Amino acid sequence: MTEIQKKLFDAACDAQKRAHAPYSSAFIGAAVLMADGSIYSGCNVENASFGGTVCAERVAIFKAVSEGAPKQVKEVLVVSDAEKPWPPCGFCRQVIAEFATEQTMIHTANLQGKMKSFAFPEIFPEAFTPKHLD
Ligand code: ZN
Repeated sequence: MTEIQKKLFDAACDAQKRAHAPYSSAFIGAAVLMADGSIYSGCNVENASFGGTVCAERVAIFKAVSEGAPKQVKEVLVVSDAEKPWPPCGFCRQVIAEFATEQTMIHTANLQGKMKSFAFPEIFPEAFTPKHLD
């Protein structure tokens, strides 16, 4: 794990402890590294009306955007309490695609720090992006 990945992992683990997951009992944390080096974290926030649930990755990205971070994600780290690290879901991949570059990296980890990394285009090829709307 690089120094940056360790910072992302620690931020994601802190957020994971705050997850609101009374329905799935899946406690997820995420942290994103933005282009200026800033880090934002998030946890999943479930809702009794299930469609209102938002994943940790999207919470982290929405926080970054709403706080004025540059709209470019360099790295995303997702941590779950499952033994096998969970990758971002399809909704989150689409939201990441909005702010990703060809170099954006996705790291999935469990709480013990077992981590697997992917280049974003590898896990979300042929993404629909803002370029399609030009
Ligand atoms: Zn998701």
